[in-house]
Amino acid sequence: MRLAILDRDGVINEAQDDGIRSPTEWKPIRGSLEAIARLHRAGWRVVVAMDRPGTGARQLDLDLMARVNETMKHHVAKSGGVIDAVFFCPHGPEDGCSCRKPAPGLLLDIARRLHTELDEVPVIGDSLSDIQAARAAGARPVLVKTGHGFGTAGLADLDPAVPVYEDLYQAVDDLLGSDKQ
Ligand SMILES: [Mg+2]
Ligand SMILES: [Zn+2]
Repeated sequence: MRLAILDRDGVINEAQDDGIRSPTEWKPIRGSLEAIARLHRAGWRVVVAMDRPGTGARQLDLDLMARVNETMKHHVAKSGGVIDAVFFCPHGPEDGCSCRKPAPGLLLDIARRLHTELDEVPVIGDSLSDIQAARAAGARPVLVKTGHGFGTAGLADLDPAVPVYEDLYQAVDDLLGSDKQ
């Protein structure tokens, strides 16, 4: 079993500053649904790891977040893919928890729950916090330039060893290329 861990906003769907506030606002990034379907057909498991969108009083209601995730899973399934699970940090940035990125807690939790090591697992994100969480968890960080990724790619803090792709489709193309035996 191979595993890919994806951030949601800015990787699978278009990001919105305050988070997606209605299932009808969920819009896939071009090629992302097909990329997930390709992973599925190649025998990979796909898991989403995301922070609860918004901050403070604007923090997104968890029921609403769950409904948006159901919408995402529905679109993915219609395209022939599967999202095995969505893991999320339910806290806010002010809570000082160990699961909100850049902390590695969410990724470590995924590793425990799926009984897998993370050292070969790509963690694909668009923000520096995704990259930092992947590093801290001992996984393989991968940056895409969609969402906040174009800006992230230009940050001085970004480790130049992190592979950068135009989008999820291109990242998956490379993953599956190197997966051929
Ligand atoms: Mg993101
Ligand atoms: Zn948390």
